[in-house]
Amino acid sequence: MAITFNVEKLADIRTPFYYYDTNILRQTLDAIKTETQKYPNYFVHYAVKANANMKVLKIINEAGLGIDCVSGGEIEQVLAAGFPADKIVFAGVGKSDWEIELGLDKDIFCFNVESIPELEVINEIAAAKGKTATVCFRINPNVGAHTHANITTGLAENKFGIAMEDMEKFILLAKTLKNIQFKGLHFHIGSQILEMDDFAALANRINELQDKLEAAGLPIEIINVGGGLGIDYDNPQENPIPDFASYFATYNKLLKLRPNQTVHFELGRSVVGQCGALITKVNYVKEGSHKKFVIVDAGFTDLIRPALYDAHHKTINLCSDAEEETYDVVGPICESSDVFAKGIQLSKTKRGDLIAMLSAGAYGEIMASGYNCRRLPIGYMSDEL
Ligand SMILES: *Cc1c(COP(=O)(O)O)cnc(C)c1O
Repeated sequence: MAITFNVEKLADIRTPFYYYDTNILRQTLDAIKTETQKYPNYFVHYAVKANANMKVLKIINEAGLGIDCVSGGEIEQVLAAGFPADKIVFAGVGKSDWEIELGLDKDIFCFNVESIPELEVINEIAAAKGKTATVCFRINPNVGAHTHANITTGLAENKFGIAMEDMEKFILLAKTLKNIQFKGLHFHIGSQILEMDDFAALANRINELQDKLEAAGLPIEIINVGGGLGIDYDNPQENPIPDFASYFATYNKLLKLRPNQTVHFELGRSVVGQCGALITKVNYVKEGSHKKFVIVDAGFTDLIRPALYDAHHKTINLCSDAEEETYDVVGPICESSDVFAKGIQLSKTKRGDLIAMLSAGAYGEIMASGYNCRRLPIGYMSDEL
């Protein structure tokens, strides 16, 4: 079922705003549950950086997912949403002391550690508190992903993680630290990945690393493969649920597990991307010398993905089913990059029409800014309208 809009109700809300279809979100969560139930040692953590809207979080928590945080603020937000601390994994290349303290005070499940200086600081802070920190090492697997350069994270040149060559040496060091309990390995190769071969390459790399560790007498309990499963931005209405079946089956087929190992996933975009849309109103339709511009009241302050990653969001006019014309859809911000779409087909559009930019549930509302002293967009759930 595609995302649905009750235009009469939406027309009463001040634009621009985010709209979340709770049916789509629940169907997506059901699909994840159906697939992961096949593999009893698989655990999915929702990557909250994709969308931290409190109402969205509550629905995800009801579905029983764990959570993946990348900041102390996210830990505070998910605890407020009711997620249990012992389902929180905490990643990030530059954790501050207060964030580490918060994680320790709340007894989170695991710190995903990205460097030795960080490991030493966690050990010191844990010692001062008389606690033990459970840690996994984030390893840079040097696996490329077929996605936008700004969202690959698993190449040797990226800032993330620990080099594979250093893995054994660092694990041996971790085992000497009194307030650290080393549990396993963490990976994350990028985002918006649609080629299962990329995940297959990661699974194969993990097998190699595990064989090496086993030969060195260094067994691990936790394998965290990160997130990155992409969504269909071209056909969101035909294809609202990501291909979770292929995704989990790829790991199940290739990743060789030892007894009692658990596999952890950190899915963000694929959980929330398709349930959300940015709703904006047409302020003006301007006839340029060569093209027609639809000037909407949303800008990159509301949805930055097109300006940041050349992303495109399928855009539809909710108020018109007249014949289509070709438009550029642009925002009001004083920057040339404030363009949502160029040369797209939209039903003939006029001032006052509501426009929906689909597939905006992930990395949309959460990345909004107040540049130009603009108001932050509010997120509304379909079942509260
Ligand atoms: C961003 C991120 C994720 C989620 O990525 P998606 O592409 O949204 O699934 C998972 N793990 C880590 C460590 C991340 O930084």
